[in-house]
Amino acid sequence: MQIAVNKIEELRAMLATPQRIVILSHTNPDGDAIGSSLAWAEFLQDKGHQVTCIVPNRYPYYLDFMPGCQSIVIYKNCSDDSAMKAVKGADLIFCLDFHTMSRLEGLSELIDENQHAKRILIDHHLDPGEDFDLMISYPQASSTCYLVALLVEQMCGSGCITKSMAENLFVGMMTDTGNFAFSSVTPDVFRVVSILAETGISIPDIHINVYNSFTEGRARLFGYVINRKMKIFHNGTVAHMSLEADEMKRFWFQQGDSEGFVNYPLTIKKMKMSAMFTQHSDCIRVSLRSRGNIDVNIFAQRYFNGGGHKNAAGGKSMLSMEETLRLFEKYVKEYAEEGML
Ligand code: 5GP
Ligand code: MN
Repeated sequence: MQIAVNKIEELRAMLATPQRIVILSHTNPDGDAIGSSLAWAEFLQDKGHQVTCIVPNRYPYYLDFMPGCQSIVIYKNCSDDSAMKAVKGADLIFCLDFHTMSRLEGLSELIDENQHAKRILIDHHLDPGEDFDLMISYPQASSTCYLVALLVEQMCGSGCITKSMAENLFVGMMTDTGNFAFSSVTPDVFRVVSILAETGISIPDIHINVYNSFTEGRARLFGYVINRKMKIFHNGTVAHMSLEADEMKRFWFQQGDSEGFVNYPLTIKKMKMSAMFTQHSDCIRVSLRSRGNIDVNIFAQRYFNGGGHKNAAGGKSMLSMEETLRLFEKYVKEYAEEGML
């Protein structure tokens, strides 16, 4: 895959002189959000720009190993005015791994304070918003990290990818493709992985850091959710699971601990769609996964004010858990009656 040459030229022109830059990524940032932000920040800093990475809230604790992550400003925990200063003073605002400003939640109000900065989208979600000066949007790309790797390669040559950039990019490429197993994986993804591997990164170490560095509480919580909270219905083809605040407390829940749970029901033969509902302070977060042609992006848009990709999407519910689960079962029935499931 290649990023369109005219986009590269536009980007090059924007970066021709030293710029004050803010890189933003989405709420509940994941490996792709953090990895792409850090790698893109390092590239821009190497080129002499001043860069601040900001995310709306904290990323999961097991991503703490990612090179440079200590420098990310976490807006929700920010006790000083560093985020405000960076945003107000920015010439360019890069938006990575999300497609609409609504995914920034509270942080979007801060961005509205700066109307003069150019906004550039680098993303792989479907249906990107309109409010960008430059859109590098490739929904067929398996991750934003893959897009950042291509950008760096096309702008400066693959020799510009450092070992720390490669580590960060590999995390997003690995996590957003389910370990290089999803249908979005192409031969070119492996070509890029080979460039990253050439920098000397340790793939086993990255794998251990991302997938084998959880707490004991997380392992026990997983057992509990699968054993006690997984409901399978619709002839064994749909599953839902849920977690409420008191259950999280019982297992010393830390943000990110339920990441990946939603994939597990899809290991059952015949399963077509899986949903995980997690109680947060202000809403219930909905996480959806599907197999093959079943489109959970449309499902998330239609019923949970969300979106994402065809086989992995999310959204929110403002109702009680009981009501949310009841409605989910009703929506599944409705979706099936339309031939969508
Ligand atoms: P996850 O279930 O891993 O949190 O999210 C799966 C996919 O859905 C991700 O690509 C994520 O960006 C997208 N997604 C999750 N929550 C929301 C949401 O509230 N709104 C939108 N538009 N997309 C979401
Ligand atoms: Mn992504």
